[in-house]
Amino acid sequence: MNDIAVDVLIIGAGPSGCVASSYLKNNGISSKVVEKSKFPRFVIGESLLPRCMDHFEETGLLDCLMEQQFEIKAGARFLKDDIVCNFDFSKKHTPGWDYTWQVPRADFDHTLAKEIVKKGVDVSFGHEVTAVEFDENGHSTTTVKTEEGNEYNIRAKFIIDSSGYGRVLPRLLDLDKPSTLEANSAIFTHVKETERPEGVEGTLITFDVVKDEVWLWVIPFSNGNTSIGFVGPTEFIESFKGTNAEKLKEMLKISDYYYDRLKDLDFLFEPHIIKNYSKAVKQLYGKGYALTGNSAEFLDPVFSSGVTFATESGVKAAKLITKQLNGEKVDWEQDYTGYIMKGVDVFRTYVSEWYTGNLQKIFFHRPENPVIKEQICAVLAGYVWDETNPFVKNHNRLVKTVAKVIDMENERALS
Ligand code: FAD
Repeated sequence: MNDIAVDVLIIGAGPSGCVASSYLKNNGISSKVVEKSKFPRFVIGESLLPRCMDHFEETGLLDCLMEQQFEIKAGARFLKDDIVCNFDFSKKHTPGWDYTWQVPRADFDHTLAKEIVKKGVDVSFGHEVTAVEFDENGHSTTTVKTEEGNEYNIRAKFIIDSSGYGRVLPRLLDLDKPSTLEANSAIFTHVKETERPEGVEGTLITFDVVKDEVWLWVIPFSNGNTSIGFVGPTEFIESFKGTNAEKLKEMLKISDYYYDRLKDLDFLFEPHIIKNYSKAVKQLYGKGYALTGNSAEFLDPVFSSGVTFATESGVKAAKLITKQLNGEKVDWEQDYTGYIMKGVDVFRTYVSEWYTGNLQKIFFHRPENPVIKEQICAVLAGYVWDETNPFVKNHNRLVKTVAKVIDMENERALS
């Protein structure tokens, strides 16, 4: 194949790469997307947040998704012992979308990828990035290998690395750093639900806390299948023996709420295990490149923030590159790292405090405080840049403080 020259090379056609390429296309910047696999392909990350609807809308990708009639996610249910905590996205502190979707990612990502191709973005499937070199101006030469084993080069003024767990530039440029979160792992599959419960119960997304640090996700899709997965400390997941299917079958017994509904259903594929999934990097950008989505940072699935950060960072990187290529000055440290890390840090607090137990104390405390609930609901909807929300602005302090007040109340009640 002949070598190619573009303004922007995008690595990976997941949600992050798709929104980035769509934004660039809408703004007259030439780009090429190279995607290692052939779509549709499986990937985990099926519960979205309302905030990502803003990104699909802004990049012109919302209508194609609407047509798919994915299962509506209007909130989220958390269960612990006999206590139920329901979040309703229409009751949240920050204005914004009050619903999103629960999606089989193979279909969802395929819809996005087909739409960018339709818009005229140049996408090559089955093409894998194997090497990248930068010159002193940040211009790059990327080596791409096709499925047939042929190689060609792409010269680009800028690279957006949205390669997800491929983590192409973090690997090639030694940008990985250890995550500060606890080492957690997940095991998951899909089941075909032949007899779903009637009404909302059958379609409700639920996070069932089966032990303080271990939880089960149940994500029903509109196609009749349901995603199920356990998340917990790596040693907990490793403590189960046998095949992955045997491990997951055994784990299901811990869920009092879901065992009967799920116990006899066949797994649609051998459960996958992802060990120690949290990832972090030393820097989010460099001369001639930006890392977006999972290639940059991944915290934890508990609040479903992955795809939303993937699209938030994909759109942001594409906007800044557009400015820069149009001759405007861009402060990448402030406008990219500063902005993205502000949101990541809010979610990092919520993830950490979930596993310390402080956030669970707030979720499952009765009676509920409706003001606090609306403020936390806005965070769970992905609106983590709204500093009018005290649970965003003071995230570090407030979760701990409220948990402490609950402890004191409980102690008073006991004495
Ligand atoms: P991806 O969607 O992973 O896309 C990256 C693409 O890059 C892939 O198609 C890949 O084939 C391609 N690629 C990789 N290497 C190369 C290469 N060398 N050359 C070319 N192409 C390449 N997020 C949520 O929002 N909700 C959830 O409920 C949720 N649950 C999760 C559960 C678990 C157990 C885990 C581990 C993660 C979960 N996530 C969830 C996170 C979610 O999976 C990711 O955040 C999201 O998929 C990131 O999107 P992306 O576009 O960055 O990358």
